[in-house]
Order: sequence, then structure tokens, then C-alpha cells
Amino acid sequence: MEQNTLKRLAVYPGSFDPITNGHMDILERALRLFDRVVLAVAPNEKKKPLFSAAERADLAREALLRFGDRVEVTIFNGLMVEFARKQNATAVVRGLRLISDFEFEFQLNLSNRKLAPNLETLFLMPKDHLIFLSSSFIKELASFGGDVSPYVPQNIEAALKQKYSTTNLP
Ligand code: ADP
Repeated sequence: MEQNTLKRLAVYPGSFDPITNGHMDILERALRLFDRVVLAVAPNEKKKPLFSAAERADLAREALLRFGDRVEVTIFNGLMVEFARKQNATAVVRGLRLISDFEFEFQLNLSNRKLAPNLETLFLMPKDHLIFLSSSFIKELASFGGDVSPYVPQNIEAALKQKYSTTNLP
């Protein structure tokens, strides 16, 4: 496909610490609706991430290789709506899992709307078995040596093993 025909672009922002099959599911849904998706990694240092923003972006890039140039992974600083505007995004995509996500996302979207009235946010639901999946759960499981292979792409499983084998050293 010609670059200039790739018109409908969505931004999918998040911490992706690390990317999970839940994120992958939302991204694949977004790719059915948009020509391109920019997966935008927020550094979110306040959340004390396990992986640096650069590591998270590299891991996501590796996990998303099969989508070719329909997916781009970028780190963004500052306001997400500003980033989306610069990308000429048609919409922002977020995943909705349980009711617990709803209140936070509702509040976030209300303030984003004030900042960028023309930017729509689209909420997508993952497959049932991914509803309970979060990056925090994966990190906890991996830190105890649990099997994360059903929940994350292969390169993430390897990266988690490596991270926890070095952080658990005496
Ligand atoms: P944030 O810090 O912005 O919440 P996350 O990486 O935790 O970053 O999540 C990014 C987006 O992906 C959010 O919209 C979140 O709801 C969604 N998401 C995360 N895990 C899942 C999942 N298992 N199923 C569906 N959406 C998910």
C-alpha cells in the first residue's frame, strides 16, 4: 500500500510495561478499523516501571513485527492529545476490561475532550479470556517464577525471565 493512501490512523497510548496479549488483542481490533496504528509508549515514570520506556518500545516493536508498516511504536512525552494531533490521528484507542477500568477511562476521556474536542476515543473490549490480564499481574507472576507464556508474546517472556534473574541476584 502506498504511504499516502494510509489515511485512517489511530493512536493507542499506554505504559506497555510490558506489552501483553491483552494489548495485542486491542491492537489487532484497532487494525481492523484503521489503516495504521501508532502504539504510543508513555514513560509514566511515576508508576515505577520495570522496563525503561526505550526497553518497552523495543519489546513492543519486536512483538509487533508481523504487522509491518501498519504499526509504528513511538515513545511520547507530554500530553497524549497533543501527540495525537501532531500524528493527524482520527482516533485514540483504549482497551476496556472490567468495570474498574471504566471510571478512570471516563474521567481521562472527559479531560481529553476538553483539550481536543475533535479527537474521538474508541474503547475496545478484548476476548473474554484476556479480560483479567494486566501488565502488573504478569510482572507479579514472573517475579515468582510463574509461567507467563499463555499471556505474553515470546520475546516478553524471555525479557521478563532475564529481568527477574538479574533483579533477584543477591
Ligand atoms: P496505562 O498506564 O495507560 O493504563 P497500560 O499499558 O496498562 O497503560 O494500558 C494501556 C491500554 O491498554 C489501556 O487502555 C488498558 O485499558 C488497555 N489494556 C491493558 N491490558 C488490557 C487487556 N488485558 N485487555 C484489554 N485492554 C487492555
